[in-house]
Amino acid sequence: MRTCGDCTLCCRGPLTVQINEHEVYPNHPCPHVECNGCSIFNEPSRPSVCHDYKCEWLKDSSIPEWMKPNKSNCILTRHRDRIVMSGSIDNYVGASAFSFAVNYCALYGIRLDYTIRSEYAKDHFDRGSIVCSGAQVSSGTMTQIFYPIELFYHHE
Ligand code: SF4
Ligand code: SF4
Repeated sequence: MRTCGDCTLCCRGPLTVQINEHEVYPNHPCPHVECNGCSIFNEPSRPSVCHDYKCEWLKDSSIPEWMKPNKSNCILTRHRDRIVMSGSIDNYVGASAFSFAVNYCALYGIRLDYTIRSEYAKDHFDRGSIVCSGAQVSSGTMTQIFYPIELFYHHE
């Protein structure tokens, strides 16, 4: 079973959550987060949402180590029939992490909803959805999986 270790990203604002009287959202981290964890970890005031929350990286050991939220700058959360990707506000989500999430959702035939930091300004975000279906994933020879129009098409 994986542990959070040096990661505290879900306490730092990518997830919007009510922590007692505090609203946690981008640029408003939980006031109890410290560099090495939660200052009220063993206190009764630590809300149940904190006990219960587990990101996908924590739950699914098939997700690679480099996708750990504090390394990939994004948190994947399973929410009903979809995966929600919540990006760090301090760093961009790289192409490798984004394409991993798309392929992960395609593997399970579920939708990906993402909210990630925009490249234009620190307080701007890009939000979108990608409907991933297992049927979209195919493998085979070129003639089996390529559409005829893609095969060695030359412009005039
Ligand atoms: S984002 Fe995941 S790994 Fe990081 S602290 Fe939260 S639950 Fe743990
Ligand atoms: S109370 Fe602790 S575990 Fe919960 S969000 Fe704040 S720092 Fe994280």
